[in-house]
Amino acid sequence: MQIKMLWMYHDLMDLYGDKGNTEVLRVRSAKRNIECIVDTCSIGEQKDISSYDLFFMGGGADREQNLIFEDLISRKEDIQKAMQNKTAFLLICGGYQLFGKYYKDQDGNIVEGLGFFDYFTESTDRDHRCIGNIAIEATMDGETFKAVGFENHGGQTRNVETPLGKVLYGHGNTFDSGFEGFLNDQVLATYMHGPLLPKNPKIADKILQRALRKNYGDVTLAPLDDEIEYKAQEVMLKRLKVR
Ligand code: GLN
Repeated sequence: MQIKMLWMYHDLMDLYGDKGNTEVLRVRSAKRNIECIVDTCSIGEQKDISSYDLFFMGGGADREQNLIFEDLISRKEDIQKAMQNKTAFLLICGGYQLFGKYYKDQDGNIVEGLGFFDYFTESTDRDHRCIGNIAIEATMDGETFKAVGFENHGGQTRNVETPLGKVLYGHGNTFDSGFEGFLNDQVLATYMHGPLLPKNPKIADKILQRALRKNYGDVTLAPLDDEIEYKAQEVMLKRLKVR
């Protein structure tokens, strides 16, 4: 089996080790004899987005979001086609924001989003950001489990109809909404950097299953030894006193 992943704006949208997510997916695939090809695409490059099984976009500061958003919007039709073709999406922070209606920065500048979903993001002022470790209780594909990460965003994302989970510690979509991220059958969008996947193997495997679905249907993945990953997660859950 094979997974073709497209890492969008690898050179601009990569905060707090977001790249690590691609490594985790590659290694967890390889351990199951699944080949995971990681391709990249940046401003002005021609790539047939709908031919990929997984679309990954990391976070970025306001500057980077401003640099890429026009290029991203220019690919709207192709991304829409990818959604219709059952490509899976993993979006972190700045990437998450740009799939909604818009991102308004601290100076009131509006960065237009793809508008695929009804949520929108507005920053308040420079002194108020959601920064720090975060723990959530996520529910994905009928399973509920804890996940940990690190967030740093001024943007407050509102009107999220189907969040990824409940906040146990930290902020999530807004300072105090109590909810984190966005989830539907194909798209997982979250504020959790860290990077997200090394300490959350369950999410990593669910992303792999979603990526495989396009060509192979529902695939059961052989379990891996995740003792070290869960020890790392446990350290954070204990530190945040949610264990
Ligand atoms: N610039 C956005 C914000 O501050 C996104 C930041 C990020 O991707 N970490 O809300």
